[in-house]
Amino acid sequence: MNAARKTAKTARKPARKAQAVARKITRTARTAIPRGISPEEWKVRCDLAACYQLTDLYGMSDLTGTHISARVPGPEHHFLLNPYGWLFDEITASSLIKVDVKGNVIWGPKDKLNFAGFVIHSAIHMAVPELICVMHSHTVANAAVGMHKSGLQPLSQKAMLIQHFLRYHDYEGAADNLQERARIVANMGTEGRCMILRNHGALTVGRSIGEAFSWMYTLEMACKQQVAGLTGTEGDITELSAELVGHVREQGRAGLSPGGHSERGFEWPALVRKLERDRGTSYKT
Ligand SMILES: [Zn+2]
Repeated sequence: MNAARKTAKTARKPARKAQAVARKITRTARTAIPRGISPEEWKVRCDLAACYQLTDLYGMSDLTGTHISARVPGPEHHFLLNPYGWLFDEITASSLIKVDVKGNVIWGPKDKLNFAGFVIHSAIHMAVPELICVMHSHTVANAAVGMHKSGLQPLSQKAMLIQHFLRYHDYEGAADNLQERARIVANMGTEGRCMILRNHGALTVGRSIGEAFSWMYTLEMACKQQVAGLTGTEGDITELSAELVGHVREQGRAGLSPGGHSERGFEWPALVRKLERDRGTSYKT
């Protein structure tokens, strides 16, 4: 072998090694995705599992009592839900069940669908395809605010900023009636992003999983602040003028809308990094 050929052969060795490593990584990534699930669906599953775990991390879970759903990419209108009976901090990408809009389980154990969860979430997924994620919670704060006729009052900055996007839905009992779906959709309307479910809890929606989480977090903070602020302070509350309340409402409409400087969901990558720092990456399995 002449010197030039020997040099070329030596130079190719690191490239071959790098290609072999890349192939191995790709193989590993592929084998981590269960059979029958596309890479696009797997990405949604990972984000949704992260959302379940973050909801638990931020103290907004309620044992097995609520759900977060996400639309699966594609024309079938399938969506993902947690398997009933699992706590939020147990949810991983592969544990999520996939259902159609009629409530049939398409992927995962057939006996793990909670019908009440299906009713609330399918309402939005059937009616508004661009809303990728629907998040439902029962917290002390949002249920407490939902008990009051006046709902979320414009007493804190957070409450005022989300006024434009906040809606209400009256209680009809545990959600086992498919007829309620149309009323949930009508009450959310086209610009609604968060909803107080009176005497019950809260619902948020988003064009991404991160957006739905951000709305839920902000609504939760606003409810907590109201509950804390109104406790034992009768007659000692600073009420703001209607003009100022309207001004902050408009600031929120402009800033939190798509394209606004605090467009909901922009924090999602940072939230996922926090989750991985605190709880590792098992949500992606
Ligand atoms: Zn509920």
